[in-house]
Amino acid sequence: KTFAQLGVMEQLCEACEKVGYKAPTQIQAVSIPWALQGRDIIGLAQTGSGKTAAFAIPILQALWDAPSPLFACVLAPTRELAFQISETFESLGAAIGARSLVIVGGMDMMTQSIALSKKPHIIVCTPGRLQDHLENTKGFSLRTIKYLVMDEADRLLDMDFGPKIEQILKLVPTERNTFLFSATMTSKVAKLQRASLRNPVKVEV
Ligand code: AMP
Repeated sequence: KTFAQLGVMEQLCEACEKVGYKAPTQIQAVSIPWALQGRDIIGLAQTGSGKTAAFAIPILQALWDAPSPLFACVLAPTRELAFQISETFESLGAAIGARSLVIVGGMDMMTQSIALSKKPHIIVCTPGRLQDHLENTKGFSLRTIKYLVMDEADRLLDMDFGPKIEQILKLVPTERNTFLFSATMTSKVAKLQRASLRNPVKVEV
C-alpha cells in the first residue's frame, strides 16, 4: 500500500517521499488508518519499526484539518529520543507549517518558557521537565492538547516516570486522542493503558 491509500493527505505523502519513505512500514500501514479515524492506539513496536512517523503523520494531518497551538504533547523517556521525535515532526510537518519544540532537562528553563509562550503546535517532552514547566511557567498549560503520545512507555515506567505521568494525565483534557507505544507489554504498561486510553486499537508488529 501507499501512504495515499492509507488516507494520508497529499502534502504529507509528498513530505514522506522527500524524506525517503517510499512505502509505509508495517506499523504505519496498520496504525495510520485507525489513527486517522480518531481511534486511540496501543502500539507494540521496537525502535526502527517506523513508529515515530506512525503517530506523527496522523497528528500532522489532524493539525492541518484544525490548526491550533499546543495541539499535541509527546512524552519520551530520554532527551535523545525527544530530539529524534521532534525532528520527525519538523521534517514531515515543514510543508504544512507545523512547529515543534523539545522540552527536556539540562537546558535553560527561561529559554524554554519563552519558546513555550510562542505556542508551538507540538511539544516533545521528558516528563520531569514538562512537570517543572506546568508548575513554574506562567500561562502554560495542557488544556488545549488534542493528542497525547507516550512513546517507549515501558522505558518511561522503568525510569519511574509513572507518578509524573499520572500527574500529567490529570492536566490534559479527557476529550483527546492518545497513542501509547511500547516495545514490550508489561503489567505497568497495561496499567498505564487502562488509565489513559479509551477503547484502543491494539497494533502489534
Ligand atoms: P523509528 O522506528 O520511528 O525510530 O524509525 C526508524 C527509522 O526508519 C528512522 O530513521 C525513520 O526515518 C525511518 N523510517 C520511518 N518510516 C519509514 C518508511 N516508511 N520508509 C523508510 N524509512 C522509514
